[in-house]
Amino acid sequence: MPVTETSSTQTPTPWAAGAAYIDGRFMPIAEAAIPITDWGYRRSDVTYDVVGVRDGAFFRLDDHVRRFRASMETFRLKPPEDDAAIKRVLHRCVALAGLRDAYVAMDCLRGRPPAGQPYHPAFARNYLAAFALPWISLVRPDVMERGAHLVVAETLRIPTRSVDPRAKNFHWADLTRGQFEARDRGADFCVLLDEDGHVTEGPGFNLFVVAEGRLATPDAGVLEGLTRQSVIELADELGMPVAVRKVGVAELRDADEILLVTTAGGIMPASRIDGRIMGNDRPGPVFRRLHDAFWGKRAGGWHATPVDYAAGE
Ligand code: PLP
Repeated sequence: MPVTETSSTQTPTPWAAGAAYIDGRFMPIAEAAIPITDWGYRRSDVTYDVVGVRDGAFFRLDDHVRRFRASMETFRLKPPEDDAAIKRVLHRCVALAGLRDAYVAMDCLRGRPPAGQPYHPAFARNYLAAFALPWISLVRPDVMERGAHLVVAETLRIPTRSVDPRAKNFHWADLTRGQFEARDRGADFCVLLDEDGHVTEGPGFNLFVVAEGRLATPDAGVLEGLTRQSVIELADELGMPVAVRKVGVAELRDADEILLVTTAGGIMPASRIDGRIMGNDRPGPVFRRLHDAFWGKRAGGWHATPVDYAAGE
């Protein structure tokens, strides 16, 4: 696949804010744009994934690209790049931006059917977009310190038979509406239930509830998050009982601790749910143990793939 670069490579400054790749071309993030008529934008007809880079290494890169491919298959999207090419693009975005800690996104957009073709998604030419930005965390440092305040939203998660949450998608209207509910009620984040009253997930994170030292995370109606997977692996290693099963809303409301987990932030604590204070209104002991183990193991190279910085030359 031919790759070209814009001439602005002479000045390092525009790259420092981030680097992007769209359909065969690399560019500084400020120059990255998609056509306004693209169905990726007009219809949210796009899938994506996000992988983190810390201390110059991707975390679970192969798992993220594997999940991205599975999401693309679910939505019947197929860009020209194979998985190896996608990984090269991601390495190059990070290298061009010169980032040691980065938020790295990969998107596959539907595109649009060319003129003369039927107005049907099957005829669109799909393409890959990717970018690397300086590291982003979902939770501000002060919220990390005190623990997030959560509310159970009135808004329900979109049914899985309409949009499969295991395929990462931009059908965020439910999560966004829930975030306004949270804000109206003075909380940081919402948690959405399914139609049967089971806990699903929040805007950009999976959840664990902790009761009497036992962890549980919803088995369905959620993205099978890779941070969630990492917490399951860690809990096993630390001898903490962990179950992947249905979690009722009462369990959430009565939990000793609730953990929010995502690529953009790792493991994050909660201290209130629907106004009820958990523990001493501060991050709890299970959070601390898992959080320290997570970052300790990551510093030791756990699931790490070093960024190929030569790819930016
Ligand atoms: N659930 C949703 C809806 C998400 O958007 C995300 C991440 O962006 C997650 C869960 C967490 O997944 P991961 O740990 O793989 O980042």
